[in-house]
Amino acid sequence: SKESIKDFLKRNLFVLFTVAAVALGIVLGFALRSHNLSLREIKYFSFPGELLMRMLKMLVLPLIISSLVTGMSSLDSKATGKMGVRAVVYYMVTTLIAVFIGIVTVIIIKPGKGSRDSPVAKSRNVEMIQATDAFLDLIRNMFPPNLVEACFKQVRGYLSPCDPAQHAHCITLTVISSTIHTQETLEETVPMSGSSDGVNALGLVFFSMCFGLVIGNMKLKGQALRDFFDCLNEAIMRLVAIIIWYAPVGILFLIAGKIVEMKDLAEMGGQLAMYTMSVIVGLLIHGLFVLPLLYFLVTRKNPYSFIGGLLQALITALGTSSSSATLPITFRCLEENNRVDKRVTRFVLPVGATINMDGTALYEAVAAIFIAQVNDMDLNFGQILTISITATAASIGAAGIPQAGLVTMVIVLTSVGLPTEDITLIIAVDWFLDRLRTTTNVLGDSLGAGILEHLSRDELQNRDEEVRNSVIEE
Ligand code: ASP
Repeated sequence: SKESIKDFLKRNLFVLFTVAAVALGIVLGFALRSHNLSLREIKYFSFPGELLMRMLKMLVLPLIISSLVTGMSSLDSKATGKMGVRAVVYYMVTTLIAVFIGIVTVIIIKPGKGSRDSPVAKSRNVEMIQATDAFLDLIRNMFPPNLVEACFKQVRGYLSPCDPAQHAHCITLTVISSTIHTQETLEETVPMSGSSDGVNALGLVFFSMCFGLVIGNMKLKGQALRDFFDCLNEAIMRLVAIIIWYAPVGILFLIAGKIVEMKDLAEMGGQLAMYTMSVIVGLLIHGLFVLPLLYFLVTRKNPYSFIGGLLQALITALGTSSSSATLPITFRCLEENNRVDKRVTRFVLPVGATINMDGTALYEAVAAIFIAQVNDMDLNFGQILTISITATAASIGAAGIPQAGLVTMVIVLTSVGLPTEDITLIIAVDWFLDRLRTTTNVLGDSLGAGILEHLSRDELQNRDEEVRNSVIEE
């Protein structure tokens, strides 16, 4: 019909806009590099991009809360339980596969072999962060003592900025953070000072899920609250529909600004170039082959047309390096383009953006083994196993914000006794790898939503029938 052709054009025109924005951003960025803009000028130039980041982040908090509460309250507890178990299995399996691919890639490519260029002084008197401490932090964050505070602060014992005079383990992080500052990478890349970024998403996710479950079981009495959150969710998604028109402009400037600002590529050492390549190869294998194959095996549908519907979300992830800032767009792509059931997306996406990070897990494993190679340290099987486990934990613990994975690297490195200050070796390329791993993270969450919808179709159908019957009874 006429309407659907118009719809089709509009949708594809939009994807075209977004892709063109990336291309234009790259061209503009490289063209402006020769002009040696000052830091202030770069800041001004990137302003439209900064605005997009702000708009997206503005929506994330109400979106996480309203989607989870509505998602959980619209299913019965049995269906929710089943979907929850499947989601956790999917998250674990795909994350472990990602880690495995990372390990194999870095062992084959061996980016860190050969003597290291500049030996970093090894101060071993830094107190090690134990994996246990990091794990306890994860659990701590699940139970925010103050919900309002959780909206702007993580309750972290170990990975937050603290007074190095009192906490020896903070020294390493302080070193990293000051390196980032001196590299003048602008505020976007300082996760550990992250006042505005430090939402305790995990805590809010956990609370919203419990809250949704409870009001879902409150029968008639809970109706007002269910309606409220449902309506809030609808309203937020309408705001997303407006903001999405601005997204190509924002993405153009986010990308151009970053290219203007980045260090000269020629300065990058051979080892670092190989390391970058290892991460890219790993991410490509995982994102373009393994995950699509999994999707195909489960649903028997074409994974690449599904991915085509996600293009805007993937490009936004590339532009923002933040899976949580991308969340509004991910929702829109899955629900509008790919027609995934809202009861699935509302449940799976916020949780996925918070804990399911395949790209980050893969990157953590590659980086840790690269650092071991640079230090001429031979890892035995046990140590590689430890890296797999801690890389998984570190990816769960990383917030969906720019370069969070770089901070949680500390967990992986200390678990096998690698010098944490060697994180400085990989900082130079991290902004770039961050964008790619964030894109992989978003892809993993989205394909997961498609897979889980397929697996949960019986429960969803039953629920539809129940609702239909109850309407007839009334
Ligand atoms: N930036 C990533 C994300 O938002 C997390 C990371 O640093 O690995 O998904």
